[in-house]
Amino acid sequence: MIQLLSKPVVEKVHQNVRERSLAFKKKSGRAPKLVVVLVGENPASVIYTTRKGEAALAVGMEHESVVFPGSATPTQVKAAIDRLNADPGVDGILIQRPLPSSFREEEVLFWVAPEKDVDAFHPVNMGKLVLGLPCFQPCTPAGVMVLMNHYQLSPAGKVACVIGRSSIVGKPMSALLLQANATVIQAHSKTPDLAAMARQADILVAAVGKAQFIDASFVKEGAIVIDVGINRTASGKVVGDVLYDDVAKKASAITPVPGGVGPMTIALLLQNTVWAAEQRG
Ligand code: NAP
Repeated sequence: MIQLLSKPVVEKVHQNVRERSLAFKKKSGRAPKLVVVLVGENPASVIYTTRKGEAALAVGMEHESVVFPGSATPTQVKAAIDRLNADPGVDGILIQRPLPSSFREEEVLFWVAPEKDVDAFHPVNMGKLVLGLPCFQPCTPAGVMVLMNHYQLSPAGKVACVIGRSSIVGKPMSALLLQANATVIQAHSKTPDLAAMARQADILVAAVGKAQFIDASFVKEGAIVIDVGINRTASGKVVGDVLYDDVAKKASAITPVPGGVGPMTIALLLQNTVWAAEQRG
């Protein structure tokens, strides 16, 4: 059984991004710039925003956090994003989620200009993804693909089951696996006999958001198991959507939590940002 650790993959992505950032700076006289927009003081969001900024600086990019109080209105935040969209010195813009309840996600999705949408949430980028056109790829599912590629696990010709159909993880994950020539089952909370459906899969991706929900009864002998879940237990421990010790006995490869998919997300955000700079440059 192979443990799919992200550390060497993240280092490789960072090295590549560092070299490309430097090359961009030599050519254009400035480093690629990532701006994170944070509204409110959700503690997890504050930590994620800080980490993204540190990661950007560590690969030679510029970074700025634009911080609003939780009382900020959608109009105020949109005005700031309009300014960032128009600023030629800004390459990538990310709106940290979750936003306060006064913000309507179906409107916010359109705010960041598609060519600066390094989170790949804009419907133009989602559409391009489904059509297989060059575009930003949503960071977490793209990170899964890079991780599998590093360990030479090709989805081609395999049956993949993605459990979860969110716009951030499940749906784009399926699109990327399909593009990589897997036959994809997209499962969700209304899927009947989920365990039997999941057992058909050579590649099982868990993006359910329920701690240790996937046990060995969901897993085909020898399957590759990708755990996207990040859940905190009552005791404060971080666990995935997969019951690791149980599933590891059956899987041929598995991502641990922490140390698996999680760190890939920021690495792919940096990769998207340098790509944004190169495309715009
Ligand atoms: P989400 O928006 O809550 O979506 C969860 C999905 O799971 C939904 O499609 C839901 O189905 C499905 N689901 C829920 N209960 C189910 C059940 N009993 N059986 C089958 N399907 C079920 O979550 P998300 O944003 O996709 O995130 C999923 C997990 O990934 C979370 O643990 C999250 O923390 C983690 N995550 C990690 C990263 C990272 O950086 N590694 C990034 C994003 C998310 P319905 O659509 O039918 O409701």
